[in-house]
Amino acid sequence: MAKRDYYEILGVSKNASEAEIKKAYRQMALKYHPDKNPDNKASEEKFKEAAEAYEILSNPDKKSRYDQFGHAGVGSAGNSGYGGGMSMDDIFSQFGDIFGDSFGSAFGFGNSRRSGKRVNKGSNLRVKVRLTLEEIAKGVEKKIKVNKYISCNTCKGTGAKGGNSYKTCSTCRGTGHVTRITNTILGQMQSTSTCPECGGEGQIITDKCNTCFGNGIIKGEEVISLNIPAGVVEGMQLSLGGKGNAAARGGIAGDLIVVIEEVEHDELKREGTNLLYDHFISFPEAALGTSIEIPTIDGKVRIKIDAGTQSGKVLRLKGKGLPSINSHGKGDLLVNINVWTPKALSKEEKNILEKLDKSENFIPRPTSSDKSFFDRMKEYFS
Ligand SMILES: [Zn+2]
Ligand SMILES: [Zn+2]
Repeated sequence: MAKRDYYEILGVSKNASEAEIKKAYRQMALKYHPDKNPDNKASEEKFKEAAEAYEILSNPDKKSRYDQFGHAGVGSAGNSGYGGGMSMDDIFSQFGDIFGDSFGSAFGFGNSRRSGKRVNKGSNLRVKVRLTLEEIAKGVEKKIKVNKYISCNTCKGTGAKGGNSYKTCSTCRGTGHVTRITNTILGQMQSTSTCPECGGEGQIITDKCNTCFGNGIIKGEEVISLNIPAGVVEGMQLSLGGKGNAAARGGIAGDLIVVIEEVEHDELKREGTNLLYDHFISFPEAALGTSIEIPTIDGKVRIKIDAGTQSGKVLRLKGKGLPSINSHGKGDLLVNINVWTPKALSKEEKNILEKLDKSENFIPRPTSSDKSFFDRMKEYFS
């Protein structure tokens, strides 16, 4: 389904002010609100569409990207969902800004969809995981021990001692919020706020658990098994929903964010999905040809060096690099061949070389195939 223009959805012009956009959205939200249009799919879609448009156009940063690049600029092109996945809860939580807390309830919003009770959310945790190139090449399962808040076992996370040690909050009668009616010149206004007695939870613990002092969580640790896919790179973050800190009294746990760290390999250097290896051969080996042993991710392999190999020749071992995390296929292993020039010579070695220097075949005559420097540079700049 092609996406409609956000300005068109809200019925405002491209140079509408912040206030105009807000006003337009407020009208749309009132018109298509699910409470006013029960079981009406079409108006629910309109309601979500308007929320998404407002979400983008009310944010100066997102708005400017949308103005420049359209839907693609805000990552919503081709998304089947709305607003990169705005749920009804997201939309209702946006209402605090649009209507103000009292405004929302003055229009009779919310209570049928939002319970009004506060749900505790555990905080996110970050851990670093160090991986070798070998582990990155194949993907790896890691078990890590994480110190974090865990649900209290004594009270099963409720914070209450025993099953009946809490009562419904009398101040809010379990709703988690209190409503006040005030008389203004415009008539009666209703305002709603979080219940001060129970902190919005709707319940009060009468006898607190001795282990967690009523929090429902305690400090502890958990061994978490991570399935790390092949091809991850340094600094990449993997998020495990619900594996972060547990939330107080049966709320929603936070996320565990795993940050990838790469252990440097002794011999191989990583360049994206390619691996680089630097190798020196002696001058006679270069002239006569030889075979050398080189390290790869899967162990040592022996490769042939042709007679007459020039220093700076790059040998490419196809598919001996690393996999990519988002595509099939693997990179290559590039072996740079250097010819070792001796730094100190004996008298005898000197004599031999001086004789060779006058010899016909020792005069440099590079052909285009020997100019691997240019090839390397071409690759470097491509
Ligand atoms: Zn407890
Ligand atoms: Zn209360």
